[in-house]
Amino acid sequence: MSVLTRLPMLANVENSVGNSDNAGTASQASATNSTNSTNSTNSTKPAVEPSTLAYRDLVRGPFWHQIPAYANVTEAQFLDHNWQAKNSITNPAKLLAAVKELVPATFLEDAELGFKHSPMSVRVSPYLLSLIDWANPMEDPLRIQFIPMGSRLTPDHPKLDLDSLHEQADAPVPGLTHRYRDKALFLALDTCPVYCRFCTRSYAVGVDTEDVEKVSLKVSSERWSRAFDYIASRPELEDIVISGGDAYQLRAAQIEEIGDALLAIPNVRRMRFATKGPAVMPQKILTDEAWTDALTRVVEKGRKLHKEVVLHTHFNHPNEITGITEAAMNKLMERGIVVRNQCVLQRGVNDSPETMTMLVKRMGHLNVHAYYVYVHDLVKGVEDLRTSVDTAIFIEKHVRGSTAGFNTPMFVVDAPGGGGKRDVHSYEYYDRETGICVYQAPSVKPGQFFLYFDPLHQLSTAVQRRWADPGERESMTRSAIAKAEQHAR
Ligand code: SF4
Repeated sequence: MSVLTRLPMLANVENSVGNSDNAGTASQASATNSTNSTNSTNSTKPAVEPSTLAYRDLVRGPFWHQIPAYANVTEAQFLDHNWQAKNSITNPAKLLAAVKELVPATFLEDAELGFKHSPMSVRVSPYLLSLIDWANPMEDPLRIQFIPMGSRLTPDHPKLDLDSLHEQADAPVPGLTHRYRDKALFLALDTCPVYCRFCTRSYAVGVDTEDVEKVSLKVSSERWSRAFDYIASRPELEDIVISGGDAYQLRAAQIEEIGDALLAIPNVRRMRFATKGPAVMPQKILTDEAWTDALTRVVEKGRKLHKEVVLHTHFNHPNEITGITEAAMNKLMERGIVVRNQCVLQRGVNDSPETMTMLVKRMGHLNVHAYYVYVHDLVKGVEDLRTSVDTAIFIEKHVRGSTAGFNTPMFVVDAPGGGGKRDVHSYEYYDRETGICVYQAPSVKPGQFFLYFDPLHQLSTAVQRRWADPGERESMTRSAIAKAEQHAR
């Protein structure tokens, strides 16, 4: 039996007040209010339903014992980042062997088929594997993100592209994307502590797969120097994102090498190290002293120079956050390191107001700022994960108001073709029937239109047939741009 404690999602307060189970609480609150009605400091709010605070209840204890291979693993071993890295599973056969006693044979066959068609390499940490609910893996939000199932794959939208954000087209030197006027994206390396099925950079991250030969972004002093020289040569560049791949995979000395080089450039004012690490292996922050100390030194050096250095991470679901995550985030908080989150909206993972609100509140509880929620990029091979712009607008409406504004994420579309991030609501034209949403980015690429396409599975059968016809495709796209031209200002 699973040792995981599954937590109820955030309940709707107004609905729950009328339940018979809650009648006592509600009437007590009402009695208290009437007793104190003459008191000017009286609260007009009823007592909260305890389930609304469930975001504070984190999974603790040896939850990894549910995996047969980890049944005797001690807490000290599980917290050791070296143990986590060494025991991360990097091929489908080994991954499925680790859970074969927990799932039916049909699940294993289905997953084998899924891996065969995946554009991404495989790497799953023991931490992640242990957080999946193996009693119901098909619906588990972590399984959905990391283990593809053949039966769930759906055909790609005809407009999908491997590098949909055109990061390579906007790269003046290899591994440095300069799209926004004052900001650049430095891809320092091409490896990660885990590999996500849905990676936007599946064109470069990880090793080659059956379907994709990757662009090389290996660690190279010569390549790094060219990137630093370019940044120094452009006085408008103030903000540098250090990503990859993933900054977790940089050695401590490399964190300082990059940090020192960028802090020494006068025009650089802000830096962010981007890593999915806290969501998939929070142990590293606790036990890789050299890495965490190196990051701390860069942050403190930046502070003395009046430059901001922060950590950006990538939680997608509240189940990724445990007592271990809390200890790791507390350590960063004690060192004054700011952590912001960039989440991806995914079907079956976090595409409901309850789950997204729970995630935002749980991150807030750990002092992680919920910075962005991205509508899923147009990535090949993961069409089953995409949702529509309309879904994002609906969820945003429910999340906004559940907590303080500064802790509320902005929902964005990273405009395909290199338009950069656009607020989901700022489209020039959106046809919910054909699923075409048209944006402009006047400060990034003036005069251009950028099109996002809702997934086919959310469109009617008749419209799906139109997308299958190249002539109809052209006609729908031209019509959407013509309508957007009428509205654009
Ligand atoms: S950690 Fe980030 S860069 Fe690495 S595979 Fe996942 S999404 Fe891609």
